[in-house]
Amino acid sequence: MDRKELADLLLPGITKTIEDYEKMYPERNLSDGAIVTRYAPSPTGLPHIGNLYQAVISRKMASQTNGIFYLRIEDTDQKRLVEDGITKIIKSLNDFDIKFDEGVTSETTETGIYAPYIQSNRKEIYWAFAKYLIENDMAYPCFCTEEELNEIRQKQEKYKSRIGYYGRHARCRNLTIDEIEKRIKNGDKYIIRLKSPGNFEKQFTFNDCIKGKMELPENDLDIIIIKSDGLPTYHFAHLVDDHLMHTTHVIRGDEWLSSVPIHTQLFRMFNFKVPKYAHIAPLLKDDEGIKRKLSKRKDPEASVTYYHEQGIPTEAVILYLTTIANSNFEEWLDCNKDKSIDEFKMEFKKMSTSGALFDLDKLLNISKNYLSTLKASEIYDRVLKWSSEFDLEFKNLLEKYKGKSIAIFNIEREQAKPRKDYASYSDIKKQVWYMYDELFDKETKNYEFQKITDKEEIKNILNTYISKYYSSSDDNETWFNKMKEMADSLGYASNMKEYKLNPDNYKGNIADISNVLRVALTTKTTTPDLYQIMKILGPDTIKKRFELL
Ligand code: GLU
Ligand code: ZN
Repeated sequence: MDRKELADLLLPGITKTIEDYEKMYPERNLSDGAIVTRYAPSPTGLPHIGNLYQAVISRKMASQTNGIFYLRIEDTDQKRLVEDGITKIIKSLNDFDIKFDEGVTSETTETGIYAPYIQSNRKEIYWAFAKYLIENDMAYPCFCTEEELNEIRQKQEKYKSRIGYYGRHARCRNLTIDEIEKRIKNGDKYIIRLKSPGNFEKQFTFNDCIKGKMELPENDLDIIIIKSDGLPTYHFAHLVDDHLMHTTHVIRGDEWLSSVPIHTQLFRMFNFKVPKYAHIAPLLKDDEGIKRKLSKRKDPEASVTYYHEQGIPTEAVILYLTTIANSNFEEWLDCNKDKSIDEFKMEFKKMSTSGALFDLDKLLNISKNYLSTLKASEIYDRVLKWSSEFDLEFKNLLEKYKGKSIAIFNIEREQAKPRKDYASYSDIKKQVWYMYDELFDKETKNYEFQKITDKEEIKNILNTYISKYYSSSDDNETWFNKMKEMADSLGYASNMKEYKLNPDNYKGNIADISNVLRVALTTKTTTPDLYQIMKILGPDTIKKRFELL
């Protein structure tokens, strides 16, 4: 039997060759410098914000070079798959409006000519590539049982050798074709291993787009390329897919950095062009002075669903992730307020090499700024959409009182220096609840009266105001003048300067009085503009709320 026959025996039923696949998946017709990259998650659970961070960077690098960004699903580890894993990945990208040019579009659909983009549907392709290695004596079947592998490890531990299946420890590496044939006839189970040509004593150097020059030992492990279930390992699938899909840049988490010697070795064994590698440092959290990786287990903000649930606008998250990716982005944004983020040029060289701090407060600040730039009607549309999913009570109120709601959101908005009080859609109800009778009435009220706390005095101020000074048709100036008049008449200073000169001449000042009104209407001492609040609440509500006190 020759090696070709051996390959057929080990991986039977394959009709296509590597050349056939190369014809099926031709070079991409793109301009010079176009980056072709991918997001290649495993559908093993809810995505981490770090995955999204990678996707944002990859999308951006591809877009700004007129390249391609595609979604590939890496599901070769079938034991770790979760239900609806692919749906969750796609939803997380959709939620953040990250569009891909080709790849998987649902559990059962995909788009693009380099399909299939789900690895478990590419088995024959991997086998064709593995057969090539077997035919050329660069891969071999390994029949080792669990016990034999344990034995090898125990020996290595005993003699303090490096652990792994390599060199003289690789028992099946030098089996003859006859021996292999015999064992197969015997029904022995096998997997396929790479016959690594590497030398661990030698250093392998490469240039990472982000981390710069790296030096690691060559790979000499006879890594598994085809597993017992017939599917490839991650390493082997990476070689085949990124070759056939013509990936120019592999942008991924730096937990894969140490695999570059294996990956480069694989590409070279096939005489394929090695893609460029860009390893992204993890997102870190400052945990009481100690920096550690953001963890889905410990940090709610590590899950991508958190942002959607909290109603933190997508745009703010993308802005913040871009800020972390390239530290000069913030300054650029400051100088280019009218430009779109698309005009910013992201660079690998400006990315952190060791780890970037993820600071939720900073993100929320960016979000406040961002939301303050939107029109009231846009806030309305967004909070309505958000609440349809997460707060039906608020959704119903928004629908019932559309015009009023937009007026509420418009208080101190659409002006040169708008208020910046909402960081998320879920913040809004928490801040404007008192504007809706339905919410105000059911609340247990915790009135925050400050300077004036005497019940009789409060009643007196409210009654005087309603009976003598209130008119729902007053404009802002008239309203304010009447407040001053009332202050004077009740023995409070209407002029702050005078009050400061002679505080003892007065019971208090105009601010104390308006605060009584403010608290009576909203329970709060700090609110947006009181005049506008009163305009929107209207006479019936105002009277009703005053009577409660
Ligand atoms: N499936 C791998 C992961 O989820 C992809 C790594 C890569 O991008 O090459 O980490
Ligand atoms: Zn073996």
